[in-house]
Amino acid sequence: MSSRPHRNLSLLKPTGQLTLGNLLGALRPMAAAQTEADCFYGIADLHSLTVPHDPPRLRELVRETATLLLAAGLDESTLFVQSRVPAHAQLAYLLECTAHTGELNRMIQFKEKGRGVDSTRASLYTYPVLMAADILLYRPHRVPVGDDQRQHVELTRDLALRFNHAYGPVFTVPEITTPPVGARVMDLAEPTSKMGKSGLDDSAGIVRLLDPPDVVRRKIARAVTDSETGPDAVRADPAKPGVTNLLEILVACGGSAAGLTTYGALKRSVADAVVAELEPLQKRYAELAADPAYVDGVLRTGAARCREVTAPVLAAAESAMGL
Ligand code: AMP
Repeated sequence: MSSRPHRNLSLLKPTGQLTLGNLLGALRPMAAAQTEADCFYGIADLHSLTVPHDPPRLRELVRETATLLLAAGLDESTLFVQSRVPAHAQLAYLLECTAHTGELNRMIQFKEKGRGVDSTRASLYTYPVLMAADILLYRPHRVPVGDDQRQHVELTRDLALRFNHAYGPVFTVPEITTPPVGARVMDLAEPTSKMGKSGLDDSAGIVRLLDPPDVVRRKIARAVTDSETGPDAVRADPAKPGVTNLLEILVACGGSAAGLTTYGALKRSVADAVVAELEPLQKRYAELAADPAYVDGVLRTGAARCREVTAPVLAAAESAMGL
């Protein structure tokens, strides 16, 4: 058992290669939290099944994501693959009996991915409840995530409060934590959209954590800015989403915009900062990828601990509901 008083929980979906947004919005804050909390970080493979998927590709992405989590320094956490801990799916059903259709109809992902299509997998509609189960099973105090997860954590809190009120105090009501910079990294080619990992593998606007330095530099050099010129053009401004995004990435990667007056200079500084940020991670990734048995062992041990930690919480929820 850990002597750290708080628990943190966060999951990542293996739906594509992880991005700079995942690193700045999630992996870095998740790593920093390890000093103060007993951290459970998972790969949400069940969540990858809500849209058409390719089974061998999913298996490959689970392994790659696990290796990247370790390369990002999450080796003091309990790392696990969601489907190896059956309590997630079991609690999800109990929480589906606590959630209402009205609140699921309002979830942004369902609205976005379901827009314009006649029919979606039923799991796309219910997955926010699975996400609530993912979190509540661990009774975490904090959920370190990027800004896009706000609505999900709000639903999780609502369901916990409703369940506790109806059946007794089973769940801890968690707090969301988002980083001060890098909580919403935008797509370089479309800076009004989030940099999401599920886009095409070679999308120009998505910096992948395993992109070689020349690819990172090329993507940043082609980032969309605007047509303003003059000494004040390099500034954060809601009317300048491309430049604002580059500045945010620069600061999040430890750089500074002081003295930068042209977009060319800004892009070079951003590229240097991002390449420097990714270099140690990519080096560590290469070492770990050469030892898949080690990565598998970490996931096996992690899942065993998760099964142990979640069993009493699932049992308490079942018993409170009269099962
Ligand atoms: P997902 O990529 O949806 O599996 O999200 C995994 C984690 O990365 C969550 O904590 C997200 O909030 C975070 N995240 C995903 N995309 C971004 C982004 N563009 N900027 C900041 N954080 C992000």
